[in-house]
Amino acid sequence: MQAFDYRRPGTINEADLALKAAPGARLLAGGQTLLPTMKLRLATPDTVIDLSAIASLKGIARKDGGLAIGAMTTHATVAESADVKGTIPGLAALAGGIGDPQVRHRGTIGGSVANNDPAADYPAAVLALGATLNTSKRSIKADDFFQGLFATALDENEILTEIVFPIPQSFAYAKFDQPASRFAIAGVAVARTAGGVRVAVTGAGQGGVFRWTDAERAFSASVQRKTPPWPAPVTATRTPPAVRATATPAMAKREAGWSNFA
Ligand SMILES: Cc1cc2nc3c(=O)[nH]c(=O)nc-3n(C[C@H](O)[C@H](O)[C@H](O)COP(=O)(O)OP(=O)(O)OC[C@H]3O[C@@H](n4cnc5c(N)ncnc54)[C@H](O)[C@@H]3O)c2cc1C
Repeated sequence: MQAFDYRRPGTINEADLALKAAPGARLLAGGQTLLPTMKLRLATPDTVIDLSAIASLKGIARKDGGLAIGAMTTHATVAESADVKGTIPGLAALAGGIGDPQVRHRGTIGGSVANNDPAADYPAAVLALGATLNTSKRSIKADDFFQGLFATALDENEILTEIVFPIPQSFAYAKFDQPASRFAIAGVAVARTAGGVRVAVTGAGQGGVFRWTDAERAFSASVQRKTPPWPAPVTATRTPPAVRATATPAMAKREAGWSNFA
């Protein structure tokens, strides 16, 4: 790892100023992805800005009829939160299924969503639930946020501050996971909302997390119909495409409550 300057601001405003003062600086959340990347010299920032002292970035609260989760809230906190279990229990279960206890106690929801790993769990929930992502500059709808593998709508100097989840009628997430890391080989989130059914898939898309609109239409129908057509899955990995093409529809149908599907 090469030498770098380390900053630990106490407020979002101070973090914002530190970012502006050091072009190319990287934000540090739980460090579960950034630090290994730096050790491998895949990232070589001159300045690292640690967000861990900013209290306002941590915590879970009811807000605007939804559930607001601060960007620096760890997976373990989400998994154990009575507020999350009471409103979106599937989201607590998702957080409890990430990695191992060490990863869950260091990794943060903001780090996961800002990183947008194509095999990460949270992006599917954020997209299926139609969450709003608040930043140091603006609010971004989930549908506009994810922009491809490891790419998001965040600018270089933008801090993700919180994610506001509308409370759905129901929400479930299932994944076929990599047994060592527990990243999703294929994961699917199904949300029933006042506006209809939303289905998001992680781990299986050529361009990262995506909404599976054929499944949304099929699961919204009052009569059960044929299995929704599966879009082109990832091909350039060790997992045969047929695994994702089989596992994802099966998980989606189970989570959508299709007990006897064609
Ligand atoms: C062994 C292992 C197993 C894992 N298993 C899983 C799994 O099963 N499922 C899963 O989904 N994930 C898994 N992860 C990922 C992990 O849970 C973290 O979510 C992920 O590494 C990023 O979160 P972090 O808080 O560590 O962010 P960091 O590593 O600190 O940061 C990641 C990136 O996001 C940027 N960033 C961080 N916070 C912000 C912010 N507030 N605003 C803007 N940019 C920001 C950073 O600059 C960096 O580019 C695993 C990781 C490891 C090491």
